[in-house]
Amino acid sequence: MTGPTPPLPTDVDVLVAGLGLGGCMAALTAQRLGLRVMGVEARGRHGNRGRLVVVRPKAQALLSAVGLTDVTRGRRTTTLKHVEERLRQTLCTAADAATVRPPSLHWHARVVALAPDAASVAVTLQDDDGRQHQVRARHVVDATGGKLESLGRTARARTGARHIVVTAEYATPPWYDGIVGARDPHTGDAYFLIPMRGRTGITAYLDSPPGEGDSEAVLTQRFEAIAERLGLRDLRQEVQAVDVVQRLLPEPSHDRVVPIGDAAGTVDLWIGAGMSTAIEDGADAAEAIARAQRAGDPSTEMRLTREASARAVTRHRRRIWLGRLVVAARPLIIRLWPTLPLDQVTRDALRSPRWLWQGIRVVFGRRPPAPAEGRD
Ligand SMILES: Cc1cc2nc3c(=O)[nH]c(=O)nc-3n(C[C@H](O)[C@H](O)[C@H](O)COP(=O)(O)OP(=O)(O)OC[C@H]3O[C@@H](n4cnc5c(N)ncnc54)[C@H](O)[C@@H]3O)c2cc1C
Repeated sequence: MTGPTPPLPTDVDVLVAGLGLGGCMAALTAQRLGLRVMGVEARGRHGNRGRLVVVRPKAQALLSAVGLTDVTRGRRTTTLKHVEERLRQTLCTAADAATVRPPSLHWHARVVALAPDAASVAVTLQDDDGRQHQVRARHVVDATGGKLESLGRTARARTGARHIVVTAEYATPPWYDGIVGARDPHTGDAYFLIPMRGRTGITAYLDSPPGEGDSEAVLTQRFEAIAERLGLRDLRQEVQAVDVVQRLLPEPSHDRVVPIGDAAGTVDLWIGAGMSTAIEDGADAAEAIARAQRAGDPSTEMRLTREASARAVTRHRRRIWLGRLVVAARPLIIRLWPTLPLDQVTRDALRSPRWLWQGIRVVFGRRPPAPAEGRD
């Protein structure tokens, strides 16, 4: 595998597939509990997802427990990229430290096949150069966001309507003063510009109403046309059109592969709890696996493993219900924004309802500086 190549183990206690938020949390927790951990990530070491995320109190507490105290630096929100970077840094530090069982980490390597049996899971890894390696793991944590479905793992079922969101991150333009947006009275689309911490950039979102509406290609064109009119430059994160529809595993896993985070289920973007839920799942799955492996008898081991999978599915099912309520309230929520056909958006026409700042202060932390006089 690429980078300074650590020796590849052939036998581990737990293999974590995918080192996103949930996978990093699972790997760190399992390592702290004394398990021999291997972490495998299809992409490189550095994340680039500038999405603004709320870190729920439970997730904050779990992050503190692995050494990331105050990951949001006094606020309720940060970016997904920031949390992912901090978690990966902590994991790499643990891998470099001369501890008894440092985690074995492999970037640019992916799980391409897995075959669970009664005692373990045979996993095939492949690096970007096509080299393959076999590992036997007593447990696998599937933290790939659902990508192992293409290898025959149970597919998550759609539980809500199609719901497309287009997003990208840009450099902060000189005229930008804080959260602004508009809704299109004809299409029901909503467009928002949200600042990143320290005004290092802005994230643009185009949210279309759930249901059969315009295609991803049409929405992407609309999104790019708005960016052009607003003079948004210096793309920091590519334009992405995502169906953020809610999905859930129809039943928990029954074998030694425990799906967590988005692999267990996704909650709609509007609830903003995907990252926190993945972190909760990761910590819980790793603790359960450690308990299972110490149980001493195979039937208790499998019971504890299945219970961990069931808890992840239940956690997502609960949040999906909350997500449904929020999505159902979307038509009311977007009414709070100024109406403006989105093909007429200009930087002066985008607004934020003044009274909304109280709510924004509660949810997003400190309010951005007041608009300066005379926009350029
Ligand atoms: C547009 C958009 C906006 C969002 N906004 C928010 C928000 O505001 N708040 C919030 O909380 N959540 C938000 N989410 C959801 C959030 O991003 C996810 O819930 C969260 O990232 C799930 O974490 P995870 O660890 O399960 O998966 P991921 O973070 O997706 O990580 C999966 C990892 O697995 C790797 N991988 C994939 N296949 C393999 C393989 N075969 N082998 C090895 N590695 C593999 C991937 O490269 C990736 O790094 C948003 C999602 C989208 C799409």
